[in-house]
Amino acid sequence: MTTINLKDFYSWYLTDEYIEVSDEVAAVFLADVRYEMAYQRRLSRHKAQYSLDCDDGIEYSACLHEPTPQELLERMERFCLLWNALNSLPEAQGRRRVKSYKVHEIEAVPEDEWVTVPDTHEAIIDKESFEKVQALLKRDTRSAPKSRELHLFSGFLRCADCGKAITRSQSGKNVYYACSTYKNRSRLACSMHSIKHNRLEAAVLFAIQQQVHLAVSYSELVARINSAPIKKSQSFRLDDLITTKERELAKVTRYKQSIYQDWKDGEITQQEYRTMKADYEQQSQRLSDILERLTAERAELANGVDQEHPALVAFMKFENIDGLSREILIELIDHIKVYENGNISVRFKFADELRKIAEYIEINTTTDPAVAG
Ligand SMILES: [Zn+2]
Repeated sequence: MTTINLKDFYSWYLTDEYIEVSDEVAAVFLADVRYEMAYQRRLSRHKAQYSLDCDDGIEYSACLHEPTPQELLERMERFCLLWNALNSLPEAQGRRRVKSYKVHEIEAVPEDEWVTVPDTHEAIIDKESFEKVQALLKRDTRSAPKSRELHLFSGFLRCADCGKAITRSQSGKNVYYACSTYKNRSRLACSMHSIKHNRLEAAVLFAIQQQVHLAVSYSELVARINSAPIKKSQSFRLDDLITTKERELAKVTRYKQSIYQDWKDGEITQQEYRTMKADYEQQSQRLSDILERLTAERAELANGVDQEHPALVAFMKFENIDGLSREILIELIDHIKVYENGNISVRFKFADELRKIAEYIEINTTTDPAVAG
């Protein structure tokens, strides 16, 4: 059995309507959508290919979506605004001029130099309707921030499979999220990835609480380590990694030198030489970057970690968190991935920092007398 959303298939459903159907029926529904999409594609191509001599707006409709009523309304209002602005232009123009375009300095022009053209226009919209429109526009700008208010998870959710945004939908009191590719582009390019708001909120809150808990215990461990007489700062893992990368770099450098001789000896062509050389150069650049990062990390580790490390403090601030707010998400979370089965993974900020702190704790809590320093 498969669950399908009737709203996806029938335009007259204004809210989500999930029903369970057999796999065969679901396949028929999908085939239908596929056929419809193929038809639309053929239509656009056909119109783009063959209708260039038509003058009935057919190309226009093939390339653009029909505007929604909301768009039409906005367009009309913008037109009114522009119309009014043009209508209310003063008769005298050019009262200020830009003195220098480099520094954007503006100066007033003496009155006798103004460009004055009397009776340039008649007021087509009378004053009363002008003010009505103004009032309407004002009310709209006041109400707009509310309707465009950012929701709790706006900008944080990503589809784990296609990487695009997961967007919010509301039907009645139910708020849920689904992949924007699936919702807006193509039902075949991605699947629904839907999750209910309540479930998402609870899961993210839990993840943050766990992370806060971790930060608190890290801080305690670091405090204990720092008060001990001997601190260790040598990471064998880092040392090994640096040695390996240095060896790889040396090898690549050797290869790069030897191919020149191969070319001169006629064992490879000039073209091959060039390609290989570019390849080795790319590899050695990549290795140098990694080495630089690892060496910096090792130097940082030698300085130790403070129990008031900014990454720890950022989380510890929320020790008794029992609800989410946008501010908390902005401070702690980079993004949240939503998987098809409704699972989520939270990518926290400071992830790199926390990993380094974990390393510091690790090397100071494993017993290895040889690395005391
Ligand atoms: Zn997706």
